[in-house]
Amino acid sequence: MKNSTTIAAISTPVAAGGIGVIRISGDEAVEIASKIFVPSGKKTVAEMKGYTAAHGMVYDGDKAIDEAVLLVFRAPHSYTGEDVAEISCHGGVYVVSRVLRAILNAGAVPAAPGEFTKRAFLNGKLDLTKAEAVMSLISAQGEQSAGAAMTALEGALSKKIIAAAQTLITDSAYLAAWVDYPDDEIEEISTDKLLVDYKNVLSEIEGLLNNYDAGKAITEGVDTVIAGKPNVGKSTLMNYLAGFRRSIVTDIAGTTRDVVEDTVRLGNVVLHLADTAGIRETGNEVEKIGVDFAVGRVERAALVLAVFDLSREFDSEDRAVLELCKDKCAVAVVNKDDLEPKFDLSVLDNFKHIVYISAKDGKGAEKLAEAVESALGTNSVDTSAALLANERQRLCCEKAAECLREAISALEMNMTLDAVTVSTDSAINELLTLTGEKATDAVINEVFSRFCVGK
Ligand code: GDP
Repeated sequence: MKNSTTIAAISTPVAAGGIGVIRISGDEAVEIASKIFVPSGKKTVAEMKGYTAAHGMVYDGDKAIDEAVLLVFRAPHSYTGEDVAEISCHGGVYVVSRVLRAILNAGAVPAAPGEFTKRAFLNGKLDLTKAEAVMSLISAQGEQSAGAAMTALEGALSKKIIAAAQTLITDSAYLAAWVDYPDDEIEEISTDKLLVDYKNVLSEIEGLLNNYDAGKAITEGVDTVIAGKPNVGKSTLMNYLAGFRRSIVTDIAGTTRDVVEDTVRLGNVVLHLADTAGIRETGNEVEKIGVDFAVGRVERAALVLAVFDLSREFDSEDRAVLELCKDKCAVAVVNKDDLEPKFDLSVLDNFKHIVYISAKDGKGAEKLAEAVESALGTNSVDTSAALLANERQRLCCEKAAECLREAISALEMNMTLDAVTVSTDSAINELLTLTGEKATDAVINEVFSRFCVGK
């Protein structure tokens, strides 16, 4: 595909650093590079072959701006599939922006967010799931999430979806031929064979959907609230998990009045943690706002770390916390394990996951990580297998599964094969929207708008 415009953007973070990279892509990428870059050697920029580099100076008009290295990629052998020139200059906010300005003065236009990857997609270099994997990889916060993104980039998800769609397409093509050409001797496809195929595809898709929440906990993180009555050690736990003193720790009840937030890694998951005001009865107006807020946070959280104090007796405030955790994905964290126990542990029977810790000296953190992984189901997720990466992909699978269920029940109720085909065609559509083969412009634009500029 030929694009009329040549785009440019800074591809490295705009901050002080060793080098900064400015990327140019489009029909005129090499020509524009030749206007601003003068190689030190004899070869001109226009003479440079793909996958070669040259050392030289960057100019804006007559003014030398920086010493740099130019890399040339010739279409279609580049990230975008177009001609690409990359200038690696000295890092730093000013120099990099100055080089970009020279490139724009020479005729390039600023790239929109994700435009390089969008062009790669439009040129058939990658499908939508892989493009989204690029985004996940950039924002990965740890080994597991980066691993999951790499698996998607290598095509695990698209292979699975394409195989599922292919099974349905083959069956549909056969059905269509049979319906459209009744005179030709096309053998009638057996309902049993269709049922087996549809059920197999449905179970693959359901497998992906079932792993979605756990996968998301690994790739995107989980909204988590630390709840408990005052003084049980919520702030201490938060500080321990965050690795430094973040919340105010005192033994005056009700010290944490606002919500303190942080993103931490615990085991294989990323937790977006909020330490809330202690849940308690209070006449103090300011404190009451904090308590109400904490209750709201618990209700909305995807995971609750409900903290109890082993050294004090169970009371009505603990009971309020217990009540709040009903029907929630929660871990009971029994803190102050280093002190004399006074807490009646039988009240925690409803919790599937209970851990004993001493937040003050970090004892029990590993057990806490295990309990969290098990509560979220992330301990059974294989990040080297196909995982759905985002809501868009989940919705496509959800709709495809729904259509397949319809097709299966139509078959089981002996409805006409036309009725079955309508449902399977919709399922195929959803799967091809997922990979991008049939995605509308609106979907494609939405996917790439979430990228950063320069990727
Ligand atoms: P919050 O009100 O629930 O946030 O509780 P804090 O984190 O402010 O802790 C209340 C008090 O309990 C502080 O004096 C902490 O030092 C103390 N504390 C917290 N965790 C532990 C623990 O594991 N063992 C002991 N002995 N004291 C703790």
